Amino acid sequence: MTRPEGSGIRAPRPWTREAIHAQCTEEGICRLWRGSVDSYGYPRAHIDGSSQLLRPYIWRSIMGKTLRERYRLIMRCGNRLCVSEECIATKTYKAVAEIQAAVAKTDPLMIARFRDGAKKAGHSKLSAEIAADIRATSGSDIEIATLFGINRSTVGRIRRGDIWASPKVATSVFNFGATL
Ligand SMILES: [Zn+2]
Repeated sequence: MTRPEGSGIRAPRPWTREAIHAQCTEEGICRLWRGSVDSYGYPRAHIDGSSQLLRPYIWRSIMGKTLRERYRLIMRCGNRLCVSEECIATKTYKAVAEIQAAVAKTDPLMIARFRDGAKKAGHSKLSAEIAADIRATSGSDIEIATLFGINRSTVGRIRRGDIWASPKVATSVFNFGATL
C-alpha cells in the first residue's frame, strides 16, 4: 500500500501550491495526489526534512489556517488521495463519528441483509426498525427504493408515516452534518 518516498517524483523545494498541484491529477475540483502515501493511503510528502501528511501541511502552510481543538480535517469529496483546497474542510470528531455511523448503516452488506429479510418476510412484514432506517436515510424516494430493494411508493408511504410509523423520531445525521 505504501508507495516508496519519491517514487518517480522529484521533490520540489519548497512545497508551494503550484508544486503540489504539479504532482496531482486533476479530476473536477479534486486534485488526486500521485506522490507517496502513508500506510492508510493518505498523501504524504517530504517536507522540511521529514515525511509529513500533506493535508495538515496544506491547511496550515498553504491555506494559512489553524486546526481548532476537537476538529479534524475531512475531504468533502471523500477521496483519500485528494488534496484539493476546495475539498478540505473541518468537522468535529463527534460529527465525523456520527456520519461514519450513518454510512455504516447504508453499508452494502447491511442493505443486502435488509433486502433478503424483506424478500423472505414479504413487504408487509418490514420491521419498524428498517422503516426507521429508511426515514433516517437522505435521498430521493427512487434512490432509497433502489438502495433498500423495495417499491418506490412503499418508500413514500414509509416516509410520510402512512405505514410502519415509529413512535421514535428518527433524525438523519446527514441533515445534522449539513448544518455544520
Ligand atoms: Zn476532492
